[in-house]
Order: sequence, then C-alpha cells, then structure tokens
Amino acid sequence: MARRSQMLEGLGKPILWIVIPCYNEEEVLPVTAPLFLQRIKEMSESGKISNKSRILFVNDGSKDRTWELIEELSKSDEHYIGISQSRNRGHQNAVLAGLMEARDVCDITISIDCDGQDDITAMDKMVDAYLNGAEVVYGVRSSRDTDTFFKKFTAESFYKLLNWMGAEVVYNHADYRLLSSRVLNEFADFHEVNIYLRGLVPLVGFKSATVYYERHERLAGSSHYPLTKMLHLAFDGITSLSIKPISIITGIGTIVSFIGFIGIIWAIVVALMGKGVSGWASTVCIILFLGGIQLISIGVIGTYIGKIYMESKHRPRYIISEKTWEPYERHYKG
Ligand code: UDP
Ligand code: MG
Repeated sequence: MARRSQMLEGLGKPILWIVIPCYNEEEVLPVTAPLFLQRIKEMSESGKISNKSRILFVNDGSKDRTWELIEELSKSDEHYIGISQSRNRGHQNAVLAGLMEARDVCDITISIDCDGQDDITAMDKMVDAYLNGAEVVYGVRSSRDTDTFFKKFTAESFYKLLNWMGAEVVYNHADYRLLSSRVLNEFADFHEVNIYLRGLVPLVGFKSATVYYERHERLAGSSHYPLTKMLHLAFDGITSLSIKPISIITGIGTIVSFIGFIGIIWAIVVALMGKGVSGWASTVCIILFLGGIQLISIGVIGTYIGKIYMESKHRPRYIISEKTWEPYERHYKG
C-alpha cells in the first residue's frame, strides 16, 4: 500500500513516534522507558517500522526529576527524545503538544500513558491496522478486571451518558491510539482550547480500526486521577462535546413549570371551594426544590458561557519551553 512514508524516506516503512505524557513520573519512567525502547527496536528490526522512529516524552511541567530523567535518557539512546511544557497543563494538552510536534516529521503516532498500564505489545497490531489502510486505530481495553466495581460502574455510566448526549466515544478506549500524520494535519485545524481527545478524534473521521488489549496495574507511582479529578474530567468532557445538558434543563424547566401551573389552578379551585390551603412546609419545600433546579441550570449554562469566554481568548493550548534535541532557544506555542 502506498503510504506517505515512501515519500518521506523511500523505504515504504512508516516512521513511528510514540507520544508519552509524563507528569511527576520519576518512579515509573526508569521502569517503562526501556520497555518502550525495546518495543520500538523489535518493531524496526522486524521491518514493520522505520528505524528513524522515536519515543517522544512530553514533560507536563513535572515538579520532580522527570525532565532530568528524560534528558538523561535522550543522551543514552537516540530513539529517546523529549519536550517540556513550560508548566503543568494537564494530560490532554500534553498529548496534544506531543502530537503537534510529531505531525510533520513522522507518518504515524501512538499516544500512550507512561505508567505501563497499557499493553505495549498492542502497538504491533496498531501498525498492522495502519498498513491495512486505517488512519486511526483505537486501543480498547478488552477487560476491566483490574478495576474496582465502582470504577467499572462509573466508567460505563460515563460512556453511556456521553453517547446519549450525542458525543461519539469509543467504549473502553482512553488515550492509547494510533493516528496517521494525515489525521493529525486535519486535527491541527480543531482550535478549541478545551480539548477532550477521545471525543474529538472520531469527529475528524477517516477509516478507523480497533485493537483490543489488556490493561494492567500501574508499574510504579500512583494515579493522578482521584475521584474528584475524574468527575471534573467527566463534566468537562460532556460540556466540551455536547450542548444537550442545556436542552435537558430546558425540558426539566418546562415540566416543573407545568406542574407549578397545575398546582396554582388546584390552589385557586380549593380556595374558591372555601377550603384554605394548609401547610407552609410543603410550600417551602417546593420553593427550595425549584430554587435548586434554577441554580443548577444557571450553573450549567454558566459553564458553557465560561467555555465560550475561554475559547474567545484564543490562548495557546501548550507552550514548549525545552526540547532535548535543540539547545534552549525560543520555542513555539500552539
Ligand atoms: N499526566 C500528565 N499531566 C497531568 C496528569 C497526568 O501528563 O496533569 C500523564 C501521566 O504522567 C500519565 C498519564 O497522563 O502518563 C495518565 O495519568 P495517570 O496514570 O495518573 O491516570 P490514570 O491511568 O489513573 O487514569
Ligand atoms: Mg495510569
């Protein structure tokens, strides 16, 4: 199959860049970095990918020795390279920074977390799917056995909710995916500041494939996503991808107003019949209930207005402060 790599290096083997976001990962990096290197070497020795492939670590403003470790790695083997964000911007922006760095110099990228949870052997199948014509390959967890019941339940509910809200998300797919440079170049035109990659990638389109893999426990360190951050990510994901919550609160408002209207008619009828309306407690409860719904509604609408405000500023989504392969100069914003 004539792929872009043939133009890039005339060999017909795709150049792969593995993009790995890292935030305070000094414990896990020394464990997983050699595994990524071994994978890339095995794949290039078997002739599947070019030996110009690279492992790109994106330091997301870590406060520990992560960046120093990345610099040391880059000196130890040419396959390791790294960029550093000027401050912590979150997982999604770190992945985006890496993908945008890679898009013009490679044929394919695979984004994967740095903690060894995602099975790296699935990369082979991802590249195979690309060679068979897919421009996007989603890594999908085949089981959630390592998760607690609570995590399984919340994850499943979240995916169902997102799909019901009209956002296309692939079930059990996180941020382990292959993207071709063609998709990345189209994706570069998605300028939103609030990015939620797993919801945006399906919007780019193109032929896609799915590769199933086992997800393990973290090899070292601990998760950066406690429940509160996960809930925040979920709310952010929904409000970034769908405006259905606004229709829902409009619907609730209509139903509640209708019930209120019936209540008023009923109160008038009762009053005309000479029977006084008894009980102020019920009245107060209704007022509180309606007040609550109104405040939630204002909050949801406010979230959208806030997002419009943030988008209207056109601030950069990431700022690269350092690269391992270039002396410190001015780096770019994107
Ligand atoms: N990460 C990041 N910036 C952050 C938080 C996390 O780049 O602000 C990286 C982190 O180093 C890891 C990946 O994102 O490679 C996923 O994070 P984590 O493993 O903590 O999340 P979980 O797997 O528990 O959802
Ligand atoms: Mg993890």
